[in-house]
Amino acid sequence: MAEIIDGKKIAEDIKREVKQEVVRMRATKGIVPGLAFILVGENPASQSYVRSKGKACEEAGIYSVTERMPMDTPEYVLLARIAEFNADPNIHGLLVQLPLPKHISEEEVIRAIDPRKDVDGFHPMNIGKLVIGQDTFKSCTPAGIQELLVRSGNDPAGKHVVVVGRSNIVGKPIANILLQKQSGANAVVTVAHTGASDLTSYIKSADILIAAIGKPEFITGAMLKEGVVVIDVGINRVEDSSLPKGYRIVGDVHFESASKIAKAITPVPGGVGLMTIAMLLRNTVKATKQLS
Ligand code: NDP
Repeated sequence: MAEIIDGKKIAEDIKREVKQEVVRMRATKGIVPGLAFILVGENPASQSYVRSKGKACEEAGIYSVTERMPMDTPEYVLLARIAEFNADPNIHGLLVQLPLPKHISEEEVIRAIDPRKDVDGFHPMNIGKLVIGQDTFKSCTPAGIQELLVRSGNDPAGKHVVVVGRSNIVGKPIANILLQKQSGANAVVTVAHTGASDLTSYIKSADILIAAIGKPEFITGAMLKEGVVVIDVGINRVEDSSLPKGYRIVGDVHFESASKIAKAITPVPGGVGLMTIAMLLRNTVKATKQLS
């Protein structure tokens, strides 16, 4: 059976490190990292994400503020609020929770965030830096995947990493992070997607498989190479009438069959999902250091 890569423990370790760093910054420089969230509209998932992020900030000693704006907020009003946070010396990180209402351009909004405060790592300038291997804010989920690999003793160096999925928030950034000639990276990376003529043959050739597809239990054990390390990014709801809430959360990988073939695997929940907030806190500390 595969070793379980414990995202909960690794995320807790990172949060503890962040907290120690926050205490040190406060004691030696009198600086308290500050993170602002902007939430537009009433999307329940977004509200829950922002609540969890705010709670994590509090636990780490990071000052956080949440600006709630109504669903019909005009784009120019949102952009003006972003400009205020950009100029606020007590705010070192700024996150606009996505998705935004249809009448607002996500592209414009992301571009309006000061790249030095872009702790989500979505600004085109930071993505450009990531691609050319410069130090920058790595977006939180891909950064969390890299940490999971390294801290679980599965260094990607020299390995064939197959990423299934090419989204701007997971697939493309993780591929670019892992191919850099840097420690914790230096992998040979293949990115597969719906254009692949024989997806299974790519998956079968992976030493490390990163599944970011958004399809419940799409990848099964039979598709994997013996001894592969599986990072399952997927978070999918499937109906389950045996549970009080009527659904359960599964990944993009069929855990039961995959764990019989893999050397190591991340569970869902309990894997990648827990890393995202830990990396957000770490990016906030990084922004604070760079701005202070
Ligand atoms: P997207 O829907 O943006 O992208 C999915 C990608 O998978 C696309 O590139 C698509 O290819 C590819 N794909 C879909 N179906 C197939 C198929 N049959 N064969 C091959 N490739 C396929 O998803 P995200 O990247 O945003 O998210 C992926 C998963 O990760 C989701 O379950 C999401 O909930 C989860 N997630 C988890 C996070 C966390 O843990 N914190 C954060 C972000 C996402 P194509 O481009 O050709 O259409």
